[in-house]
Amino acid sequence: MNRVERMALLNDSYDVLIIGGGATGLGIAVDAATRGFKTALVELGDFAQATSSRSTKLVHGGVRYLASGQFHLVYEALHERAVMMRNAPHLVKPQPFITPAYHWHELPYYGAGLKAYNVISGKSSMGPTSILSRRETQALIPGIAGKNLKGGILYHDGQFDDARLALALARTAEDNGAVVLNYVRCERLLKDRGRLVGAVVRDLESGSEITVHAKVVINATGIFVDDIRRQDDHGIPRLLSVSRGVHIVVGAQVLGGGSALMVPKTDDGRVIFAIPWLGKVVIGTTDIPVSTVEMEPGHQPQEIEFLLETINPFLEVKISEKDILSIFSGLRPLITGDSKSTSRLSREHHIDVSASGLITIAGGKWTTYRRMAEDTLSFAIRRRMLPNRTCQTRTTKLHGAIDASAAQAGSLSRFGSDALQVENLFSQNPALAATIDKSLPFTLAEVVYAVRHEMARTVEDVLSRRTRSLLLDAEAARRAAPVVARTMAAELGASFEWIDQQVAAFDRLAQAFYVRQSTPQTAPVRTASSI
Ligand SMILES: Cc1cc2nc3c(=O)[nH]c(=O)nc-3n(C[C@H](O)[C@H](O)[C@H](O)COP(=O)(O)OP(=O)(O)OC[C@H]3O[C@@H](n4cnc5c(N)ncnc54)[C@H](O)[C@@H]3O)c2cc1C
Repeated sequence: MNRVERMALLNDSYDVLIIGGGATGLGIAVDAATRGFKTALVELGDFAQATSSRSTKLVHGGVRYLASGQFHLVYEALHERAVMMRNAPHLVKPQPFITPAYHWHELPYYGAGLKAYNVISGKSSMGPTSILSRRETQALIPGIAGKNLKGGILYHDGQFDDARLALALARTAEDNGAVVLNYVRCERLLKDRGRLVGAVVRDLESGSEITVHAKVVINATGIFVDDIRRQDDHGIPRLLSVSRGVHIVVGAQVLGGGSALMVPKTDDGRVIFAIPWLGKVVIGTTDIPVSTVEMEPGHQPQEIEFLLETINPFLEVKISEKDILSIFSGLRPLITGDSKSTSRLSREHHIDVSASGLITIAGGKWTTYRRMAEDTLSFAIRRRMLPNRTCQTRTTKLHGAIDASAAQAGSLSRFGSDALQVENLFSQNPALAATIDKSLPFTLAEVVYAVRHEMARTVEDVLSRRTRSLLLDAEAARRAAPVVARTMAAELGASFEWIDQQVAAFDRLAQAFYVRQSTPQTAPVRTASSI
């Protein structure tokens, strides 16, 4: 199905209309479609363009929630971690972590906590937790600071590619009959005698408005949920606080192995990670309350300093700004509580329904997206807004899922069972086997595939989310933009003018992923309403 065909289907009556195509909205689309509800989803940007492509890429229970006694949250997330591994083995994998100990008492102290973490995971454990000697620790993380190192605690968690998982959800929803569209904004809610009956949405490519009727409208717009709630009820108090989390990306040699490093206590009482990911190392994150909700939250120089100062004592060869290949940040949707610190606000999710019938789901984490979706649909069913149908997603394999043992090795493994289709593109046209840049592992065939099968509409879609080029190496991604734009234009039948606009827009965006262009004043800021 192409975009025109999808748009034509949108102008109809649905059981469920979902606003927002991040982890939460896409998870609900899969749940609703697999229960047999007629489902539509609109996303104003690209799938996962906001918070859902900016995570730390962990599928985890959250070690630090254990320290704060939130056992229920940890248990639920660890259970969901196992479900995600089972249903999307091409995108989720086990990741070993090591917490280093520089004082003898830290070995039993952190060891006991991390063993408890593994015990809570029960049958869904991803591997044993064990105490390592100094030599064993250095063998697994050659880049770790050796001075005074006593040993480490090895434990296991999950890791994933967030934007690609979002895409797999979009495609799974479609495979099950849902209509799922990016670059379509919910403009206003549609009411009949005070009851919500749908929404008016705008195709941001053609500018045309479409009326979508629905029995149930679900607001899954993450950090933007309060905008939609206020469209429904102007006087309603805000539900969310937001906090910014920044990550820096550096070369793989910084750790030098496949294991991740977990720093158990930062100056602001959190944990931070340095994690091997797609051939680089992601270091993060920060937790700073912010008052402006925007798609590109940028970062402050102090946040980069904080990350460097926190990680450097644990590294043998210290890193500085010049080692940073990319910086990416996202905003956390946090349910407002009494706590003064956003790092203490609840990561649990919240579901409510307004007087007109607007269901809002907010908060949570990527790891619990499936449970959030199940809870949202069950909530609507309990309120008799939808007929009772059983949730299927515990066992629904996501698009591309393939038995882990049969999965391809290498960069095409993320396509799972679709890897063959990408390979076919190479064999039909060997020129497509060329990489988009000498420093990036992605080929032109993947660009063509992204346009034909993955709803990529812009150069940013391809460089930031279909491939993760922008997050892995912002400068290389900038260099790749012209060839990506030309390849996409040939597929889309777009003009030279489109190519120039796309390259210029991507260039502006990519500059915000560099250290030297780091201040928010120079970063291009796009708010949801300005897209
Ligand atoms: C720094 C950071 C690190 C994190 N790390 C982890 C981690 O390692 N593991 C983990 O499990 N969780 C992690 N999380 C949490 C996780 O990323 C979020 O909980 C999750 O991505 C939120 O998804 P969402 O769909 O609710 O929101 P979003 O991803 O923000 O999606 C909402 C969507 O709604 C769209 N939208 C808004 N208004 C409209 C409109 N009018 N019409 C149509 N669409 C609209 C937006 O464009 C957006 O795409 C992290 C979060 C942050 C910020």
